[in-house]
Amino acid sequence: MQLRWLEGKATFLLLAIAGIGLPLLDDSYMGVIVTRACIYWILIAGLNLVVGYAGQIAIGWVALLTLGAYTTAVTTAGTVMPELSPYLALVASAAIGGVFGVVVGLPALRLRTFYFAMTTLGFATIVTQIALAWKDVTGGGIGVAGPVFPWPFAPGWGFYYFCLGLAALCTWMTANIAASRFGRSLVAIRDAEVAAEACGVAKPALLLTVFVFSGALAGVAGGLFASLQSYITPDAFTFDLSVLFFIAILIGGRGSILGPLLGTILLTALPEFAAPLVAWSTFLYAALLLLIVLLIPGGIAEVLDYRNRRPLQQHRAIVPKPALLAGLLDRTASKGTLELSGIALAFGGVRAIDGLDLDIRAGEVHGLIGPNGSGKTTTLNVISGYYRPSAGHARFNGVDLPFSAPHLRAGFRIARTFQTPRLIGGASVLENVMIGGTIDGHGTFAESLLTLPRHRRDEAELKQRALQGLAIVGLEQLAAVRADRLQHGELRFMEIARALMLRPAFLMLDEPAAGLSGEEIKRLGALIKAISREGVGVLLVEHHADLIFDICDRVTVLNLGKILAAGTPAEIRSHREVVSAYLGA
Ligand code: ADP
Ligand code: MG
Repeated sequence: MQLRWLEGKATFLLLAIAGIGLPLLDDSYMGVIVTRACIYWILIAGLNLVVGYAGQIAIGWVALLTLGAYTTAVTTAGTVMPELSPYLALVASAAIGGVFGVVVGLPALRLRTFYFAMTTLGFATIVTQIALAWKDVTGGGIGVAGPVFPWPFAPGWGFYYFCLGLAALCTWMTANIAASRFGRSLVAIRDAEVAAEACGVAKPALLLTVFVFSGALAGVAGGLFASLQSYITPDAFTFDLSVLFFIAILIGGRGSILGPLLGTILLTALPEFAAPLVAWSTFLYAALLLLIVLLIPGGIAEVLDYRNRRPLQQHRAIVPKPALLAGLLDRTASKGTLELSGIALAFGGVRAIDGLDLDIRAGEVHGLIGPNGSGKTTTLNVISGYYRPSAGHARFNGVDLPFSAPHLRAGFRIARTFQTPRLIGGASVLENVMIGGTIDGHGTFAESLLTLPRHRRDEAELKQRALQGLAIVGLEQLAAVRADRLQHGELRFMEIARALMLRPAFLMLDEPAAGLSGEEIKRLGALIKAISREGVGVLLVEHHADLIFDICDRVTVLNLGKILAAGTPAEIRSHREVVSAYLGA
């Protein structure tokens, strides 16, 4: 997205110039339409982080516009309280929008997809009903007058420039967030939530922050909307409007700023300029949406993203450079022993792990093998904190690891890869790797919003480390490519780079050789060995016996959740039961 934003800079500039020059046309009707587009965009820019980036189906966002509009109109009218200046009223609308952004967003922490969508719709209905019923304040069905901004932002072109300026500010701020570790984390939550947690992304805190920000922008948009309409009643806030906000993002493309901006302009202008079609505007939105979803599922952003249409080189070889590891990993970091004692976990009647003891020392490669369903992945999931075992302890460096809080594992420098690669498909390979270093960022959300120095330092450092990680696994030439274009083997190495980005003290690899060629498996083996030589404890789950016996210091064999055998590779290779039950030779 960072690259796309750079490519789009020229387009943003053109839009800005067109926006500034618009009054030269001296067409006040056009002025109203473009002012409305700016106001909608202020709301949609924030909603875009929720819908396009975090992937939450928030369709009732018109509720926040309504709240903002009534807050500004009522506080400036002077009927129920001393009159506020319109600017202060906008600030109040932002505050109300932020608070209710959290209220609407809160269910997203528990409910998914349609269930969350329904709660946002329900909220929108409640807000409209309250606006109708609370006559003393809102004027009920009769409505209330919107504020008039004084000179220099008086109605007409002055107000237009005010809205244009705020729209530009929102574009800049959301683009900053998109190109920060917060934006990357949002996309990671959308595309690969489990991997995001393993990288230390705390989903609830991040989503709530975004809901506050997005709600505040919607509140401001509401205040401006009230002024543009000059008089508001509950019917001004229709469900169609909410649909427009949502569809502008969909046809714009998820994970883009420019796409939804163009989508907003298109949807606001389309019904106006095709005047005879005004009555058909809802029909037009729907038709446009269907066309785009069917023909270009990635939306306008996909059309603009010409870089990712260039063909990739065929027959790409992955050549890791383990010698570079020393430059990335931190030798002084406290490495230690991971200890499992008496771990037991059952799924219904299935005893996935049944009293498991395991010690993995710093600097050793520990192989975990066994037939399918023997509990290998479940063991990694317990260590990662996804499952709480019914008995037993997991300790790292003598400290008890808490269960059911997977995002805290990154703080212990415990990294992992997944049996099925968890890629963030819509992000570049570089961004996929940068996610691995999320917890090493120091800047806050607000600092990223305004690209303050700490944000820029974080970004420079994370980028430099991610490029190093990619060079180590041999994928540096693919850094700018969208991850969903990679081959399976490349994704496995990309996941290793992401895990290395955490500068792990302990690394778990779940079948990293699955789907790799013989040559690639050899290189992978050398890379894993080199990682352990840096002092990292490695727990390797694998089916390729050659790889296990070549590089492991010790091997544990699981069967039905119990240890069948444990020892050096030589001991395991000659263990009668293991050979007959598993190795099959
Ligand atoms: P392995 O990685 O060794 O192939 P797993 O650890 O994935 O095996 O699975 C061990 C056992 O636990 C299997 O019988 C599997 O069906 C069961 N299992 C694993 N995860 C779950 C789950 N989330 N829900 C129910 N059963 C599960
Ligand atoms: Mg498995």
